[in-house]
Amino acid sequence: MRLPKEVLKEVFGFDSFRGLQEEIIEHVLDGGDALVLMQTGGGKSLCYQIPALCLNGITVVVSPLIALMRDQVESLKQLGVRAAGLNSTLTLTESTQVEQSMVSGQLDLVYVSPERLLTKTFLDLLNRCDVALFAIDEAHCVSQWGHDFRPEYLKLTTLHERFPQVPRLALTATADGPTRRDILERLSLQAGRLFVAGFNRPNIFYRVVSKDNPRKKLLHFLESEHSGESGIIYHLSRSKVEDTSQWLVDQGYSALPYHAGMSKKLREKNQDRFFKEEGVIMVATIAFGMGIDKPDVRFVAHMDLPKSMESYYQETGRAGRDGEKSTAWLAYGVGDIGKIINFIDISDSPVEQKRVERQKLEKLLGYCETTLCRRQVLLEYFGETLKQPCNNCDTCLEPVESFDGTVAAQKALSCAYRTGERFGTMYIIDVLLGVKNERIQSFDHDKLSTYGIGREFSKEEWRSIFRQLVAMGLLKVDIEGHGGLRLGPNHRPVLVGERTIHFRRDAGRLSKQKKRKAEKQLGKSTFNNPSDDALFQALRACRMDLAQEQGVPPYVIFHDSALSDMVQNKPHTLEEFSMLHGVGEAKLKRYGNDFLTVILEELQN
Ligand code: ADP
Ligand code: ZN
Repeated sequence: MRLPKEVLKEVFGFDSFRGLQEEIIEHVLDGGDALVLMQTGGGKSLCYQIPALCLNGITVVVSPLIALMRDQVESLKQLGVRAAGLNSTLTLTESTQVEQSMVSGQLDLVYVSPERLLTKTFLDLLNRCDVALFAIDEAHCVSQWGHDFRPEYLKLTTLHERFPQVPRLALTATADGPTRRDILERLSLQAGRLFVAGFNRPNIFYRVVSKDNPRKKLLHFLESEHSGESGIIYHLSRSKVEDTSQWLVDQGYSALPYHAGMSKKLREKNQDRFFKEEGVIMVATIAFGMGIDKPDVRFVAHMDLPKSMESYYQETGRAGRDGEKSTAWLAYGVGDIGKIINFIDISDSPVEQKRVERQKLEKLLGYCETTLCRRQVLLEYFGETLKQPCNNCDTCLEPVESFDGTVAAQKALSCAYRTGERFGTMYIIDVLLGVKNERIQSFDHDKLSTYGIGREFSKEEWRSIFRQLVAMGLLKVDIEGHGGLRLGPNHRPVLVGERTIHFRRDAGRLSKQKKRKAEKQLGKSTFNNPSDDALFQALRACRMDLAQEQGVPPYVIFHDSALSDMVQNKPHTLEEFSMLHGVGEAKLKRYGNDFLTVILEELQN
């Protein structure tokens, strides 16, 4: 049997295992069943790909998403691994070919959709193969608690009944307690081992900004941190998706829209460009994402609030799967809260479910308004404790000042109360600031005791205060009243002065010095000198040419991390080249000379 460590180096070009990989692989090689919970980008695939190459016989991988399957098979082929996929997009001849090589022992891995796997033909075919391992990817699909229930997954227990001696490895990135138990039970994996890897994504930088002038802020973010890089921008509505992508194109960016209202053909075309071209920004509704396995997504920007911490974690998790520096950016304003509550209220969900969803929203607001390390808050939500602040989020790098806002809170709450608990934020702020306009006069609100009592703060500052009051639950956005603000249930102690309130001062008021420090840490510090940058660009171009020749995404050839490694080490010989991160035997043979030529040429310039 080949040793896992050797396969890791020779085939994948990696020096060491990450996290629990080694332990999981050993367990599988010993013939054990297991459920693996590991964050996106944590390296789940290696947990079955390496056993597949160590063991005799074929590993059958159940995968629900055809695009994902294609990507994995393509990447494996690039590594010189004998892999194939079986799904509805193949012609009869192609399927027959794959089936024949399965039986004759010429494949190490076959990826198959659950529908196909469960057909009588396929199960009979398996009887004639030497099956080494079943890997069940996206295992949460078996659970109704999960977000992507697929009934066919329930029937996967057939595998165990028919092939009791073959080990099974189920894998997923998202599974809270109930989902976890559900998966174990429904796949009859109770006797197997549970491996839980942490949720932390250390390479993702978390940033939340207030949603005033969001486009300007977005543009600044793209220019200063991610110019020319690939990313996803999420919007809640289709029309905003269209607007923003057009606007970015006008600004000179390569941006594409994606939402469920577009034709399937156009969606596929845009998705394909996102994968195959460099530096494309996908502007999308959350219809885009499930199964997006592009490793070099450098940022995920939310222009609207996600609906829960789970969604936020999942959506931002699409950034930086290759482990390289990436950013999760979120713009959030009070208006969003109303919209989401509206979504929840008009849905067909039962009352209890709606209550849960509202609570989830409140948790997310708490995250947005926190003065603590964001990563600590995020991980805490998923039941993990991070002992030290992370030093890789906005609140860590740009510590938030807070101030005693008890009086401000009293003014805001009483003004909302006196205007009848039916007006939105902007109106109440105008009253607090003593603005003279017809609307205020028509309601006689210029005669209220709270008229003009808030001039010590600017409009911006009041907006921030109102946002925080909503996040604290002291004000509630009332949807039946068209987004008016009502007092929350716990307002009394504040109004009578029994409770002190602290607000965060918004980042807009940060001192210049602090800002500079933060920008420095954030800046693209990939390379310190221009010649290295030029080399990196030349290597990228070489990768693009090779990718286009074969019609595959560039990262299938090499990841950015491999290119960075080339720049850092500047290998002169194939032997030196073979030591680089991500260079195994097949890639060395296939691409070593091409990239070496580029390096040597650039060094002469
Ligand atoms: P997941 O399926 O858990 O989302 P993948 O298996 O796609 O993650 O792995 C994410 C990335 O990490 C891939 O680009 C993979 O090549 C890389 N990777 C996985 N394991 C290792 C390792 N031990 N050393 C270096 N890179 C690794
Ligand atoms: Zn932090």
